[in-house]
Amino acid sequence: MEQDMIRIHNLVKRYGDVTALNHLDLTVREGEIFGLLGPNGSGKTTAINCVLALLKIDRGEIEVFGKPMTPSSYEAKRQIGVVFQNVAVFEELSVLENVDYFCSLYVPEKVRRRSLVEEALEFTGLQDFRKKRPKQLSGGLLRRLNIACGIAHKPRLIFMDEPTVAVDPQSRSHILDGIVRLNQEGSTIVYTSHYMEEVEQICTRIAILDHGKCVAGGTADELKGMIRTAETITVEGIDLRPEILAQLKQAEGVFSADYSGDVLKLKYSTSGNLIRLLHVFEAEGIAFGRVFSEKPTLNDVFLEITGKDLRD
Ligand code: ADP
Ligand code: MG
Repeated sequence: MEQDMIRIHNLVKRYGDVTALNHLDLTVREGEIFGLLGPNGSGKTTAINCVLALLKIDRGEIEVFGKPMTPSSYEAKRQIGVVFQNVAVFEELSVLENVDYFCSLYVPEKVRRRSLVEEALEFTGLQDFRKKRPKQLSGGLLRRLNIACGIAHKPRLIFMDEPTVAVDPQSRSHILDGIVRLNQEGSTIVYTSHYMEEVEQICTRIAILDHGKCVAGGTADELKGMIRTAETITVEGIDLRPEILAQLKQAEGVFSADYSGDVLKLKYSTSGNLIRLLHVFEAEGIAFGRVFSEKPTLNDVFLEITGKDLRD
């Protein structure tokens, strides 16, 4: 049976007057790629640091691998890998030496370590850079090194805190593919990001955080099923008379119509509305530029629940 890897109950963490985690509840099961999705400042890093027992909590309970997590939970810590938000590697060591160093903290045997280090370099696509120093690497490669250092020992549970922030698309796809492969090889992964597309792409279950609370949780499909939006249609380069806009607002399934500049955005609680809309334009002789229909995104979920846009 799938075991709970992490159980967080009623967690409160304050920094002085700032309540960073406000009665947070979360459960991560074995085998998941669990996404913590939330804007900057929503408490993602704080939650990870609490689970790792790096921070003193004000209230609540945290269990990892079925046991309470404390600063001296060494047995649990040996089975955990962390990729911190801020890159932490040794400038004096090469790429290979960095990965080997971090791996050696967990794996003293040289032969096994050599193959783990090789695998980590391959995972992150750093084979050709093994002799380089960190300062010779681009930002994306440096992040990949940070990841290789955190995962080389193949931990049972891996935390990755925004590993793709400010990386080039090629590094980003390397990183995402690597996370999926690590998971396929047996690691449970907690992945934080404020990029909803990535979370949706790789995560098996997602918790949406806002102001230190979990405001919604489930698979991407479950989350999208919780909201009103079933389809968003955007029409660019359109000149709408006020009476037509009023008519569109009244149309079946439309619950929001936003018209600004020359862009019309319609939100529907039903799907399959594009043809009907085009018929209206045709009947009214209205010209338009690009038009496209979108299924709900996790941003729509965030927007409907919190009233804020994740992309702001
Ligand atoms: P996220 O990782 O989602 O961006 P954080 O966990 O870093 O969020 O921050 C949550 C809240 O706690 C924010 O309001 C942030 O300003 C505050 N915070 C984080 N770390 C500290 C700290 N060391 N001292 C004071 N406030 C902090
Ligand atoms: Mg953070």
